[in-house]
Amino acid sequence: MTDQKKYLESDGLIAAHYGEEYEHYYNAITPPMFMNSLNVFETIDDYYDFDRRDKHKYCYGRVQNPTVRILEDKLAAMEHGVGALAFASGMAAAATAVLTAVKAGSHVVCIHNAYGPLKDFITGYCHEYMNVTADFIRGDEIEEFEQTVTDATDLVILESPSSVIFSLQDIEAVCRLAHAHGALVYIDNTFCTPIYQKPLDMGADIVMHTTSKYIGGHSDVIGGILAAREESLFQKLLQHRELMGGIVGPAEAWLMIRGLRTLETRVAAHQETALKVAEYLENCGKVRRVYYPGLKSHPQRALVEKQQTGSTGLLSFEIDGTPEQAVKLAEHLQIFKIGVSWGGFESLAFMPYLRLSQENAGVLGGGRNIIRLHCGLEDAQVLISDLEAAFACL
Ligand SMILES: *Cc1c(COP(=O)(O)O)cnc(C)c1O
Repeated sequence: MTDQKKYLESDGLIAAHYGEEYEHYYNAITPPMFMNSLNVFETIDDYYDFDRRDKHKYCYGRVQNPTVRILEDKLAAMEHGVGALAFASGMAAAATAVLTAVKAGSHVVCIHNAYGPLKDFITGYCHEYMNVTADFIRGDEIEEFEQTVTDATDLVILESPSSVIFSLQDIEAVCRLAHAHGALVYIDNTFCTPIYQKPLDMGADIVMHTTSKYIGGHSDVIGGILAAREESLFQKLLQHRELMGGIVGPAEAWLMIRGLRTLETRVAAHQETALKVAEYLENCGKVRRVYYPGLKSHPQRALVEKQQTGSTGLLSFEIDGTPEQAVKLAEHLQIFKIGVSWGGFESLAFMPYLRLSQENAGVLGGGRNIIRLHCGLEDAQVLISDLEAAFACL
């Protein structure tokens, strides 16, 4: 039997080897894609008595699959959780987490800059069918949570740093406050990846990743992950995934395992490039503001250093000009493609607030002219030249 403990020493070792039992598949260095919907048993009693947490026992593909299990074991270990569960998308993971944490009439506190479809799920589905109420706050000051979280609150939803404007929440302080009121804390950790931030260690109850971004890393797979800090909550999430049926397929899980092998190296490269691009934008004289947690000028610098060990490849900026000029700039870029996702090998530009009213963009903390860039794995100088050429066309 492989001694799995020796792989727990670093995230790189977990990503490369943890959870993989080579002797079970002819010592192949990569695990097989178990493309089976069914596993069979010797006896009827064996079926009824099998332990669902035993990684060598499986019954049916909507419940668990050996390839999916390898992915989950790696992510649970990287996030320091009791377990992790893989889903067919980030939103399948998020919706299952919310429906596990709330009941009819629950109160939810959520940051304004949480992922849009998740906010729609709470204010739409959960409100309409379950009478869930929600308060939205900026979340960069703990006082806002103190004023909003009450004993009626069952769930606090964080995303730190948040996409687009990269504001942080003090995870440890929010968790202490939420737990004092009996609420669970859910956090989207997609930007930092498990490499640069471990929210369960800071008291969060559920960590979510869309593996469609950095964990997949190659823009060829959609998936999501939940990791839980505590066993009874993990068991509920496991039960609800089985009942709602959102498990990821084995082929996608296999691609995510492949993505994990290079995650640490990729995020380091994304970070190095994004910092160079952010510093160029800050100093080019044509930009009003740059939003990137890796910059020394980030307004929450001390908190960045307290809870993150790094930043990845996503950043935003506001040009010193109108939204129409920003569109022109984005459309002049050649290497940065126009696209909504991020976390892959490719560089992307997007204008998330363009079609909002000035007022609604202001609530989210930016202007309509904001451009979000994902710095891919291309050379930093190539990306900076692309931006220089686009600025010259304005
Ligand atoms: C893309 C994204 C999601 C949703 O993930 P899907 O896999 O597309 O469902 C959630 N949170 C953040 C921060 C995202 O960028």
